[in-house]
Amino acid sequence: MPAQISTLTIGSELLDGRVADTNTIYIAQKLQDYSIEVNKRVSVVDSINDIHRAFDYLFKDSEVVIVSGGLGPTSDDLTREAVSLYFQKPLLFDQHLLDGLKAKYAARKRVFDAVNEKQAYIPQGSSAVPNNVGAAPGFITTSEKKTVICLPGVPRELHSMFDETVLPYLLKKFDLGAEKQYRSFFKIFGLAESVIGARIESLMLSDKISVSYRAKFPEVHLSLKSLAPLDEISAQVRSVIGAEFIYSEDRDANLPRVVHDLLIADKKTIAIAESCTGGLIGKLLTENDGASQFYLGALSPYSNEIKNKLLGVSADTLSKHGAVSHQCAQEMAANVRRMFHSSLGISVSGIAGSSGASSGKPVGTFFIGFSSETGTRSYKFFFLSSRDLIRTYAGFKALEVVRRALKKLPPPPDGEVRD
Ligand code: ATP
Ligand code: MG
Repeated sequence: MPAQISTLTIGSELLDGRVADTNTIYIAQKLQDYSIEVNKRVSVVDSINDIHRAFDYLFKDSEVVIVSGGLGPTSDDLTREAVSLYFQKPLLFDQHLLDGLKAKYAARKRVFDAVNEKQAYIPQGSSAVPNNVGAAPGFITTSEKKTVICLPGVPRELHSMFDETVLPYLLKKFDLGAEKQYRSFFKIFGLAESVIGARIESLMLSDKISVSYRAKFPEVHLSLKSLAPLDEISAQVRSVIGAEFIYSEDRDANLPRVVHDLLIADKKTIAIAESCTGGLIGKLLTENDGASQFYLGALSPYSNEIKNKLLGVSADTLSKHGAVSHQCAQEMAANVRRMFHSSLGISVSGIAGSSGASSGKPVGTFFIGFSSETGTRSYKFFFLSSRDLIRTYAGFKALEVVRRALKKLPPPPDGEVRD
């Protein structure tokens, strides 16, 4: 049976609906790779009494409780005091921690207020968990068969502290180095979850392999878990799904990042003309460090007049075919590429709704133009949904068109292509 731990997340915002407890989710997901399970999660407000009652409950079934939140400097941050009282270990001042805190403030040119000194106190005998992202250090306190690991509530800080210190600590504590589970990830774009599900079912995998699906719009993430190596099964999965739909097998990958890396590897530059996505593609392509190596910029002409005047889409195209057309998408992509002197030009024009539909062009219709030194082509897609989701889908579809072009894969099969 896997080792059992539990989480205790502290803060009134977690109970009144302002903030979802993503910290437990993060921890539980990270532990998926190992033989450690989160068996219970509890959230309480900042109250010493409630924290103690939660400890009583959680320590019944697990030796380790990971606590998040309430480590800040203010009077409503009570985690330190609660742990100190529960374990009957007084809070002791640690000069080393104070020096570290002061150095962080100095590096950020912020005044160190005396109220922050509270963060240099940890229960006697605890070991500190370094915080390389924010100020407050965490700490690990153990007494007999009970261990609490206290981390700040700020997700970014908790993530890095969990990865760097807590996970290695848990693996050592539970003596788990060798028992790693085998996992495979498939990040898929362009197929519905139900279609993927049916294809996987056709493989009739052994029930020793656990299969899970996660629809993260507009993608689907599939993961397999097993105690035996998964290479052979993974090959079957690739072939039954269609390798071209799997944009990555790296658990932390995302489509914008994959396209980012491909553009850099191919030494390509790109310029964008986006209409109905209003800047989304530019946002996606500049999410990662180093985007300036390939991203030259975008124009977001929304009106026909601007499409014509700024981007040079011909008046004839606009009056004969309309802005939402193969012709317009092609001219937008080719013209922006020429204007920006980029190796690639990509464009989107569509009807995200709720108004704007015309005969033959219902809401959800969009065109993507793609231009490179070998020519310009366009794709017509249809995706009926809410305005927001249509726009998101169109933005990702544009990235997918670029990905497939750079990887020399066939274009997305749901698009009507015109050269
Ligand atoms: P700080 O020094 O910032 O006060 P802290 O350890 O006291 O850190 P909290 O004040 O509890 O942490 O939370 C800091 C931020 O992290 C808040 O914005 C809060 O909404 C968020 N947060 C707290 N707990 C969680 C959680 N379990 N999941 C996601 N976000 C959380
Ligand atoms: Mg706080």
